[in-house]
Amino acid sequence: MKRKAVTILGATGSIGVSTLDVLARHPAQFNVFALTAFNNVATLFAQCQQFNPVYAVLVDEVAAEQLRQRLLAVGSATIVLAGKTSLEQVASEARTDYVMAAIMGGAGLLPTLAAAKAGKRVLLANKEALVMSGRLLMDTVAKYGAELLPIDSEHNAIFQCLPNSTAEHAAKNTHSAGRAASVERILLTASGGPFRSWPLEKLAKVTPVQAVAHPKWRMGQKISVDSATLMNKGLEVVEACWLFGVTPAQIEVVVHPQSTIHSMVSYNDGSVMAQMGNPDMRTPIAYALGWPARIQSGVAPLDVIAAGRFDFERPDDKRFPCLRLAMEAHETGGYATIALNAANEIAVAAFLAQTIGFMDIPLLIADVMQSAETGTPDKLDDIIIQDEDSRRAASFWVKKKMH
Ligand code: NDP
Ligand code: MG
Repeated sequence: MKRKAVTILGATGSIGVSTLDVLARHPAQFNVFALTAFNNVATLFAQCQQFNPVYAVLVDEVAAEQLRQRLLAVGSATIVLAGKTSLEQVASEARTDYVMAAIMGGAGLLPTLAAAKAGKRVLLANKEALVMSGRLLMDTVAKYGAELLPIDSEHNAIFQCLPNSTAEHAAKNTHSAGRAASVERILLTASGGPFRSWPLEKLAKVTPVQAVAHPKWRMGQKISVDSATLMNKGLEVVEACWLFGVTPAQIEVVVHPQSTIHSMVSYNDGSVMAQMGNPDMRTPIAYALGWPARIQSGVAPLDVIAAGRFDFERPDDKRFPCLRLAMEAHETGGYATIALNAANEIAVAAFLAQTIGFMDIPLLIADVMQSAETGTPDKLDDIIIQDEDSRRAASFWVKKKMH
């Protein structure tokens, strides 16, 4: 069988590095076509030397020139491209088979859409793209015969727990998962983040260092803060609604601090299917790369005796209002989820820069959501306008807070 050529958007990040680790275990099955990043020259240079992609892309022009010089000096044949549009180019190139969408935040939207439009197998880590463009991305997948496979560990777990034929429909977006009569509910697990048991009074004083220290997963900074506010779980509810064609009412968020069960599907005969494993993103990545076959990921098997116990509790939406905000946004419509995502990105950046506090994050988001359009956009231009408006409103909120 011909090797699958893989493009990784966001190769230097946490998901990108894990993806390369899995690919390196299967040289007969996959080759690396393109690697992209924002401006991380050193990491991308080392990755190019190891994997010899046809293209390397850095969005930042100065960084791209530095990478070009360094690769030239070692006689590499990798072609270096610069700028945002190059991301779309490599994501949709005829020679690419699979695209790992692992850019952080809304910056991943256009290249992810480009990959879907080119009919690729899209491995979706970049949940923000789906939160922003749920209807458009799902329609694009169906229209151009792409495949959309979830990388987010919970959604990958749900995908694994669905009946086979339903999973197949979900990947091609025929929206049948939610309609499979036998599936009653989806149980979306959450670790609860580092502040699960902190009292409300203490949360206002949380520092960026405390917020990014996730108890179970090593991830990029933004998603680590999202996990601490539970916005990550909110974004994941929206993500699950689009991926599996269900409503928030069909999803129950359960806090499971051990993070051994990655999510569950509850059936009409009383069965609950759970997917378990060590918390290591190489498992969902390998599952999506190999699907429908299973391939080795490098993750050690779960030691259930050592895992010992599974605890479950309800999320507390007084201390973590972001979860409820995201569910409300999805009920309101696509414009509201664009506003939610844009406001959250600005709020998290401001929190990391120590210009706003941890409990300001939900306040800012709730305010910015108020001014979103109603309904759900199906045109890219409308999505981009709402995104820009909400980012502006959120930045203004931060400025006002500083004075
Ligand atoms: P990281 O911050 O570790 O990596 C982000 C990657 O995106 C880097 O390669 C970075 O390049 C690149 N990037 C950042 N900004 C831009 C931009 N404006 N344009 C182009 N490229 C950019 O993030 P993670 O790997 O943790 O997360 C990536 C995505 O996967 C997120 O959407 C996250 O929600 C999702 N995800 C992550 C999980 C995890 O375990 N990490 C789990 C589930 C989902 P550079 O290095 O040059 O800055
Ligand atoms: Mg997740």
